Amino acid sequence: MSAPTQPVPAQRTPAGEEPAPLLATRGLTKHFKVGGAFSGRNLHAVDGADIVINRKEIVALVGESGSGKSTIARLLARVYQPTSGEILYQGRPLSSMRGRRQVLEYRGDVPMVFQDPFSSLNPAYRVSHGIMRGLKLHRHELNRAQRFEEAVRVVEAVGLTPAADILDRYPYELSGGQRQRIGFAQALAYRPKLILADEPVSMLDVSIRIGLLNVMAKLRADEDVSFLYITHDIASARYVSDRLMVMYAGHVVESGPTEAVLADPKHPYTQLLLSAVP
Ligand code: ADP
Ligand code: MG
Repeated sequence: MSAPTQPVPAQRTPAGEEPAPLLATRGLTKHFKVGGAFSGRNLHAVDGADIVINRKEIVALVGESGSGKSTIARLLARVYQPTSGEILYQGRPLSSMRGRRQVLEYRGDVPMVFQDPFSSLNPAYRVSHGIMRGLKLHRHELNRAQRFEEAVRVVEAVGLTPAADILDRYPYELSGGQRQRIGFAQALAYRPKLILADEPVSMLDVSIRIGLLNVMAKLRADEDVSFLYITHDIASARYVSDRLMVMYAGHVVESGPTEAVLADPKHPYTQLLLSAVP
């Protein structure tokens, strides 16, 4: 007599041998209606993207302006609904998550860090406010003293010290690089699984960028977190990522381990990108 079949846990594929990736998309597509009633057309911002992000992995998404990178980030963040295709988080379709609680939980697991650090920081409040607010919303198990301890921990984790002094400041009392580190600290307070970082260093001085890339690499090593690192800069993608996806006109035209893709680029756009790097 065979044993009763066990329900398949969400993290496992039906075959049972390989855990499902942290996040995967199948044929992810987003079209926008643009123009007026007479000249309106369908803009194919993202077309049939198949993406895989594994645990503790930095995946770079590289492409020129308008190629659909931010649209992908917003789809993964649940800001946009796909026109078609599917997003699976730990093997589970996003479309099956309903209700405020499940959506909030997903937002905590998959937060976003933006290009302009000011868009994640409220100028009217001290740095501690945003971090403590996130902790209150996403980490019910912590009491007030533990929340403060955790705020100190995440600020130190992004390389800012003394943490108590930084927490007491207003966003305008920080440098651009420090502000963006706080953007990451805020995301980290949620205890995320995947941070969607949309051009997080593009507004920073070149000399400051490397510090932020190192913060991402350090967080990936120390915490159970992955990154989707969106950039138009192939050199920084090469520096920090394990895998690389290249986007062109709404299509993911190339993907694979970063060094393998760069050693043998197949698509003309990737070849062009590389030819521009010394
Ligand atoms: P990237 O981040 O690579 O610069 P985006 O994803 O922002 O590219 O944009 C891809 C395309 O989709 C662009 O042509 C842009 O104008 C268009 N687009 C993005 N968001 C919207 C929107 N909310 N409504 C209409 N068109 C949009
Ligand atoms: Mg963008």
